Amino acid sequence: MNVSRRFFLKVFAGSAVASLAWSNVSNSAPIEGNLATLIDLSLCDGCVNLRLPACVQACREINKNRVPPVKEPIPEPWPRKTIEDWSKKKDVFDRLTPYNFLYIHRAELIVGGEKKTFFIPRRCMHCDNPACATICPFSANHKFKNGAVVIDEGLCFGGAKCRDVCPWNIPQRQSGVGIYLHILPSFMGNGVMYKCDLCHERLGKGKLPACIEICPRRAMIIGKRKEIEEMAERRRREMNGFIYGKVENGGTSTLYVSPVSFELLNKTMKKSPGKPDMVPGIKRRMEITDPLGKVVLFSPLVGAVVGIAAGWKRRKEEKND
Ligand code: SF4
Ligand code: SF4
Ligand code: SF4
Repeated sequence: MNVSRRFFLKVFAGSAVASLAWSNVSNSAPIEGNLATLIDLSLCDGCVNLRLPACVQACREINKNRVPPVKEPIPEPWPRKTIEDWSKKKDVFDRLTPYNFLYIHRAELIVGGEKKTFFIPRRCMHCDNPACATICPFSANHKFKNGAVVIDEGLCFGGAKCRDVCPWNIPQRQSGVGIYLHILPSFMGNGVMYKCDLCHERLGKGKLPACIEICPRRAMIIGKRKEIEEMAERRRREMNGFIYGKVENGGTSTLYVSPVSFELLNKTMKKSPGKPDMVPGIKRRMEITDPLGKVVLFSPLVGAVVGIAAGWKRRKEEKND
């Protein structure tokens, strides 16, 4: 799916200053191999003149049909009765939801006696060794060679273990959709987890992620991992600044570069549902317990359900062919 041309033109028309800072960087498709994203906080202006930041709008547009219609009434899960239903709050864009995979945090800081505002795009970091994928009892979450961490929404039961082990609690649940409705609703599962998939499908077709394609200031770019790392380091030196995402959670495919420290930026963030913070150097939660966690989760019951689910999904795909 393409970001609408009208919207694309509107964004560019509205942007008086498109940064030249990346003018020597080719950011056009196709791009292959092990990829990384660089987000330069000195360039992002939050698209404050638009109703919605361009990247957020573009992401919403290409993912607008992602969540299927929600079954009403949503079966009450047992034993925990938590239902998460965002289907009537699709317009929310100032936090992560199953309908909003990217949002912009606004950080007000006093730097050198002056008030400064920074805008920080937040979405999945696409970690190098993602605990969210390791923990998934249904193996519905995978790290791909290009760096993308992708939830197979057709296999996800919405148990939210991925969100629990993610240091930023990124994946968001929509109850009343997904495979669990066809297997053991009320007793196993609670919907589907959604998050940014790095526009995996677009990358496969040689297109840029929509948020990166649309950004009028080229505050976000994607490229070969090594080149992006070198670029981040160069930018950090030029601005005498800081990098986030290189060591956090054991390393990620998303590097932020900023002229102010992430300790300071993090102080402007209050971690709450759908609003991740940015603790510098945050450790990977499952470092020691990886194999054990997986074994414990893989009970015979889970194994049986995985088999049923995979078979059901295969049959459905065959029907759609
Ligand atoms: S990353 Fe680009 S599109 Fe998104 S808010 Fe910043 S300037 Fe706008
Ligand atoms: S940021 Fe969270 S959801 Fe994304 S890959 Fe890392 S652990 Fe998984
Ligand atoms: S990479 Fe794609 S899915 Fe992820 S935030 Fe950007 S537009 Fe949304």
